Amino acid sequence: MSKYQVDRVVVGSLSTNCYFLVCEETKKGAIIDPGAYPSQIWRKVEEMGFDVAVVINTHGHGDHVEENKYIVERSGAPLMIHQDDLSMLSVGMTDVVDDGKNHKILKDSDIIEIGQLKAEVIHTPGHTPGGICLKCENLLFTGDTLFNLSVGRTDLPGGDYKALMKSIHEKILPLDDNLIVLPGHGPHSELGYEKNHNPYLRR
Ligand SMILES: [Zn+2]
Ligand SMILES: [Zn+2]
Repeated sequence: MSKYQVDRVVVGSLSTNCYFLVCEETKKGAIIDPGAYPSQIWRKVEEMGFDVAVVINTHGHGDHVEENKYIVERSGAPLMIHQDDLSMLSVGMTDVVDDGKNHKILKDSDIIEIGQLKAEVIHTPGHTPGGICLKCENLLFTGDTLFNLSVGRTDLPGGDYKALMKSIHEKILPLDDNLIVLPGHGPHSELGYEKNHNPYLRR
């Protein structure tokens, strides 16, 4: 198991979790969902002392992407988002992702390298068409797909409850119980605990 550091800052009016995942060996890291408060986000980068290798959006909602531009310009790192949420970005940011280099448009099963860490992209449509979870070591970043004892809402444009349930049942439930669930809002959890207690996960 590669050594990592993980931390978060809670940003914006919807209390979105912006995560930092850093490879201890190389001090390269990812910023996941820079949704607001860019100076707080950058302060955390400096505190943790890492080079930003990549900026990743779990999906295209504003509370997860709003400060992409600031963070991408300041870090020079590529921005990655699933192809089915690309159109949710503002026009300037769509160009940043879709410039034909570095496979920045994500699809299911892609591997994102963060120093020596490898994060696997799991496409979990439902909350949005291009929502993803990211699995790295014993961590599972679930965006707004799965929360501690809840799931993402599906009443917003592009939301689809049946698709969300299918994503969770087919792609998340088969994963290891010991994974630590790091959702886009609220406290973390453990996947085994969610399988047993989350009311939306009962078959
Ligand atoms: Zn969302
Ligand atoms: Zn959100």
